[in-house]
Amino acid sequence: MDPRMKQLYQELIIDHNKSPRNFREMDDSDYESKGHNPLCGDKLQLYVKIDSENIITDVSFTGDGCAISKASASMMTTAVKGKTIAEARTLFHQFHDMSTGKLDIAEHPHQLGKLAIFAGVRDLPARVKCATLAWHTLDAALKGKEIITTE
Ligand code: ZN
Repeated sequence: MDPRMKQLYQELIIDHNKSPRNFREMDDSDYESKGHNPLCGDKLQLYVKIDSENIITDVSFTGDGCAISKASASMMTTAVKGKTIAEARTLFHQFHDMSTGKLDIAEHPHQLGKLAIFAGVRDLPARVKCATLAWHTLDAALKGKEIITTE
């Protein structure tokens, strides 16, 4: 990772851990899913609210996990809020392919924005599941699955 990206990565991880965005329960969610990464011990519960036009009007999470899983969940919620389900799925696939090394974001166009700071986890295989947990949980919630595990 180049030094500037590395610094931005560290700043964002620290910031989103200190004050995670959309970190709360939701009483009137349309979809809920629990995600578990047994390898690291990350656990989160995700709540999603969808309007009649398939737009994600609200999304929140609770749970506990390592810094990367928490920061990734926090940034995921801010990234997909206001997006359609289809747009959120596209982001999920791009994020997944970036963090597993299938998508080289330096060479291919993408919509990841700030989420691109997680590109470095592809060199840290043990952390890939931490970074993608919230996204897998979102995908599961949108498919109506209640529990997912990365194993
Ligand atoms: Zn973790």
